[in-house]
Amino acid sequence: MTSLEKGIELFLLNNNFTLKTQFDEVVYRCIIDEVAFNFCDKLKEGKELDVLKKKIRVLGERLAIENFTKEINLGPEEFSYISKIIIGYVNKQDGRSNDIQKYKQHLFDGQNGNCAACGNTITFGKGEIDHIIPHSFVGDSLNSIHSLQLLCEECNGKKSKDAWFPIHFLLSRGYFPKYTLDSKWKDLSRQ
Ligand SMILES: [Zn+2]
Repeated sequence: MTSLEKGIELFLLNNNFTLKTQFDEVVYRCIIDEVAFNFCDKLKEGKELDVLKKKIRVLGERLAIENFTKEINLGPEEFSYISKIIIGYVNKQDGRSNDIQKYKQHLFDGQNGNCAACGNTITFGKGEIDHIIPHSFVGDSLNSIHSLQLLCEECNGKKSKDAWFPIHFLLSRGYFPKYTLDSKWKDLSRQ
C-alpha cells in the first residue's frame, strides 16, 4: 500500500466511511460534475457560446457537443450526462425555463413525505425543491423529476454551507443503493 492509499484509508476511517467503493463513486461523480461545469465555464469566454449554438443548429446537439468536448475522452454514459448539463446551460442562456413547482407533489409522493437527505418527515408546505445539479449552471432548463429532490428547510440550508454535506448526504442516506450513478445517468439521458 502506498502512503497515499494509507492516507485515504485513514481519512475514511476517521470520518466513519466504511465502504471505500461508495466513497470512490462519490469522488468519481464529483469529477464528472466538475468536468461538465468546466465546459460550461468555457462557454463564458469570448464567443464560445455563440459558436456552440451555431454548431448545434447546423450539426445537431449530439455532434456539436461531441465536437465541443473532444479534448476529453468520455465514455458513452459520461458523455450523455455531461452533454445534458451543457445543453441545460445553453438553454438557460436562452432564457428557457419551466415551472418546477409542478413537480412538487410528485416528488413529495415519491419520497413518501420524507426529506431526501435526513429522511425526516416533512409537510408538503415546508418541503423545499432542490436542484441536484446546481441551479447556477443549468437554471430551470434541465428540470424534470429526475434532476430535482425535496429537502426539509434545515437540509436545504445546510447544503450550501457544509463542505461535507454532499458526501454525508450521498452515503448516509443510502443514495447509491437506491439511486446508483448508473441509474441517475439513465434517468438523465432518457429526458
Ligand atoms: Zn432534511
